[in-house]
Amino acid sequence: MGKKLLIDLDKLRDLKDTPIEGVFKGGVYALAFKTIRELATFQFTCRKCEKAPCIGACPADALEKDDHGIVRRAIYLCVRCKSCVYICPFGTMMDNLFEVKTSGRRFIHLDSEKALLEFAGSFPENVVSLVDRDENPAENVYRLFDDVLIKEQTWQ
Ligand code: SF4
Ligand code: SF4
Repeated sequence: MGKKLLIDLDKLRDLKDTPIEGVFKGGVYALAFKTIRELATFQFTCRKCEKAPCIGACPADALEKDDHGIVRRAIYLCVRCKSCVYICPFGTMMDNLFEVKTSGRRFIHLDSEKALLEFAGSFPENVVSLVDRDENPAENVYRLFDDVLIKEQTWQ
Protein backbone atom coordinates (compact mmCIF):
# COMPACT_ATOMS: atom_id res chain seq x y z
CA MET A 1 0.00 0.00 0.00
CA GLY A 2 1.41 3.40 -0.97
CA LYS A 3 1.37 6.48 1.18
CA LYS A 4 -1.81 8.52 1.33
CA LEU A 5 -2.56 12.08 2.24
CA LEU A 6 -4.72 12.54 5.29
CA ILE A 7 -6.29 16.00 5.35
CA ASP A 8 -8.03 17.15 8.52
CA LEU A 9 -10.67 19.51 7.16
CA ASP A 10 -11.58 20.87 10.57
CA LYS A 11 -8.01 21.91 11.27
CA LEU A 12 -7.65 23.22 7.72
CA ARG A 13 -10.61 25.54 8.28
CA ASP A 14 -8.88 26.97 11.35
CA LEU A 15 -5.88 28.13 9.33
CA LYS A 16 -5.79 31.82 8.53
CA ASP A 17 -4.95 31.03 4.95
CA THR A 18 -4.25 27.97 2.87
CA PRO A 19 -0.63 28.17 1.71
CA ILE A 20 -0.90 25.58 -1.00
CA GLU A 21 -3.73 23.90 -2.88
CA GLY A 22 -3.65 20.31 -4.00
CA VAL A 23 -5.13 19.60 -7.38
CA PHE A 24 -6.45 16.18 -8.24
CA LYS A 25 -4.11 14.44 -10.58
CA GLY A 26 -6.43 12.81 -13.06
CA GLY A 27 -9.92 11.89 -14.17
CA VAL A 28 -12.76 14.19 -14.94
CA TYR A 29 -11.60 16.91 -12.57
CA ALA A 30 -8.08 17.32 -13.91
CA LEU A 31 -8.93 19.79 -16.64
CA ALA A 32 -11.38 21.60 -14.44
CA PHE A 33 -8.60 22.36 -11.95
CA LYS A 34 -10.70 21.33 -9.00
CA THR A 35 -8.89 21.59 -5.72
CA ILE A 36 -8.89 18.74 -3.25
CA ARG A 37 -10.33 21.18 -0.71
CA GLU A 38 -13.36 21.95 -2.87
CA LEU A 39 -14.05 18.33 -3.74
CA ALA A 40 -13.72 17.25 -0.10
CA THR A 41 -15.92 20.09 1.14
CA PHE A 42 -18.79 19.28 -1.19
CA GLN A 43 -18.46 15.57 -0.58
CA PHE A 44 -18.07 15.47 3.20
CA THR A 45 -18.89 18.85 4.79
CA CYS A 46 -21.92 19.80 2.71
CA ARG A 47 -25.22 18.57 4.15
CA LYS A 48 -26.65 17.95 0.70
CA CYS A 49 -29.78 20.02 1.37
CA GLU A 50 -32.75 18.81 -0.63
CA LYS A 51 -33.57 22.31 -1.90
CA ALA A 52 -29.94 23.42 -1.92
CA PRO A 53 -30.10 27.22 -1.42
CA CYS A 54 -26.57 27.53 -2.76
CA ILE A 55 -27.71 26.33 -6.17
CA GLY A 56 -30.67 28.73 -6.21
CA ALA A 57 -28.45 31.66 -5.21
CA CYS A 58 -25.91 31.21 -7.96
CA PRO A 59 -26.36 33.92 -10.60
CA ALA A 60 -24.27 32.02 -13.12
CA ASP A 61 -25.95 28.61 -12.95
CA ALA A 62 -22.59 27.20 -12.01
CA LEU A 63 -23.79 24.78 -9.37
CA GLU A 64 -25.68 21.54 -9.76
CA LYS A 65 -25.99 18.21 -8.02
CA ASP A 66 -24.45 15.12 -9.52
CA ASP A 67 -26.07 11.69 -9.57
CA HIS A 68 -25.04 11.13 -5.95
CA GLY A 69 -26.56 14.39 -4.72
CA ILE A 70 -23.15 16.01 -4.39
CA VAL A 71 -22.95 19.68 -5.36
CA ARG A 72 -20.50 20.36 -8.18
CA ARG A 73 -19.29 23.72 -9.44
CA ALA A 74 -18.62 24.43 -13.11
CA ILE A 75 -15.50 26.53 -12.79
CA TYR A 76 -15.84 28.05 -16.25
CA LEU A 77 -19.27 29.43 -15.32
CA CYS A 78 -18.49 30.49 -11.75
CA VAL A 79 -17.83 34.22 -11.38
CA ARG A 80 -16.65 33.83 -7.75
CA CYS A 81 -19.31 36.13 -6.36
CA LYS A 82 -19.53 34.03 -3.15
CA SER A 83 -23.35 34.18 -3.07
CA CYS A 84 -23.36 30.43 -2.46
CA VAL A 85 -20.81 30.78 0.34
CA TYR A 86 -22.87 33.37 2.19
CA ILE A 87 -26.29 31.78 1.71
CA CYS A 88 -25.34 28.31 2.91
CA PRO A 89 -27.08 27.98 6.29
CA PHE A 90 -24.38 25.65 7.57
CA GLY A 91 -21.32 27.65 6.65
CA THR A 92 -20.14 24.73 4.58
CA MET A 93 -17.79 26.64 2.33
CA MET A 94 -14.66 28.44 3.39
CA ASP A 95 -14.63 32.06 2.31
CA ASN A 96 -11.68 31.56 -0.05
CA LEU A 97 -12.74 28.17 -1.38
CA PHE A 98 -13.02 29.23 -5.00
CA GLU A 99 -10.24 31.77 -5.18
CA VAL A 100 -7.51 30.83 -7.62
CA LYS A 101 -5.15 33.76 -7.35
CA THR A 102 -4.75 34.57 -3.70
CA SER A 103 -1.33 36.04 -3.33
CA GLY A 104 1.29 33.59 -2.19
CA ARG A 105 -0.84 30.50 -2.72
CA ARG A 106 0.64 27.73 -4.83
CA PHE A 107 -1.07 24.88 -6.61
CA ILE A 108 0.46 21.45 -6.80
CA HIS A 109 -0.54 18.41 -8.82
CA LEU A 110 -0.58 15.48 -6.45
CA ASP A 111 0.85 13.08 -8.98
CA SER A 112 3.67 11.44 -7.02
CA GLU A 113 4.70 10.55 -3.49
CA LYS A 114 7.18 13.44 -3.68
CA ALA A 115 4.34 15.85 -4.45
CA LEU A 116 2.25 14.40 -1.62
CA LEU A 117 5.17 14.86 0.76
CA GLU A 118 5.77 18.43 -0.35
CA PHE A 119 2.09 19.22 0.01
CA ALA A 120 1.87 17.73 3.51
CA GLY A 121 5.04 19.52 4.59
CA SER A 122 3.55 22.90 3.67
CA PHE A 123 1.03 22.73 6.49
CA PRO A 124 1.36 22.93 10.26
CA GLU A 125 1.62 19.53 11.94
CA ASN A 126 -1.47 17.32 11.90
CA VAL A 127 -3.39 19.44 9.38
CA VAL A 128 -2.13 17.36 6.46
CA SER A 129 -0.11 14.19 6.98
CA LEU A 130 1.30 11.36 4.93
CA VAL A 131 -0.02 8.07 6.30
CA ASP A 132 -0.07 4.32 5.76
CA ARG A 133 -3.68 3.57 6.48
CA ASP A 134 -7.14 3.19 4.99
CA GLU A 135 -10.40 4.95 5.55
CA ASN A 136 -12.28 4.28 8.75
CA PRO A 137 -15.65 6.00 9.11
CA ALA A 138 -15.64 5.16 12.85
CA GLU A 139 -12.77 7.62 13.14
CA ASN A 140 -14.33 10.09 10.71
CA VAL A 141 -11.73 9.25 8.09
CA TYR A 142 -13.08 8.82 4.59
CA ARG A 143 -11.63 8.05 1.19
CA LEU A 144 -11.82 10.88 -1.33
CA PHE A 145 -9.52 9.24 -3.87
CA ASP A 146 -7.16 6.27 -3.78
CA ASP A 147 -4.37 8.36 -2.30
CA VAL A 148 -6.36 11.04 -0.46
CA LEU A 149 -8.18 10.53 2.85
CA ILE A 150 -10.29 13.22 4.49
CA LYS A 151 -10.97 13.57 8.18
CA GLU A 152 -14.23 15.35 8.74
CA GLN A 153 -17.10 15.35 11.21
CA THR A 154 -19.87 14.64 8.76
CA TRP A 155 -23.41 15.74 9.61
CA GLN A 156 -25.03 12.31 9.20
S1 SF4 B 1 -26.63 25.12 1.08
FE1 SF4 B 1 -24.67 24.48 1.98
S2 SF4 B 1 -25.09 22.53 2.99
FE2 SF4 B 1 -26.81 22.96 1.63
S3 SF4 B 1 -26.31 21.89 -0.31
FE3 SF4 B 1 -25.51 23.99 -0.48
S4 SF4 B 1 -23.39 23.91 0.25
FE4 SF4 B 1 -24.42 22.05 0.92
S1 SF4 C 1 -19.21 31.81 -6.19
FE1 SF4 C 1 -19.50 30.77 -8.17
S2 SF4 C 1 -20.72 28.96 -7.70
FE2 SF4 C 1 -20.92 30.37 -5.96
S3 SF4 C 1 -22.77 31.57 -6.38
FE3 SF4 C 1 -21.04 32.76 -7.19
S4 SF4 C 1 -20.89 32.12 -9.32
FE4 SF4 C 1 -22.16 30.58 -8.30
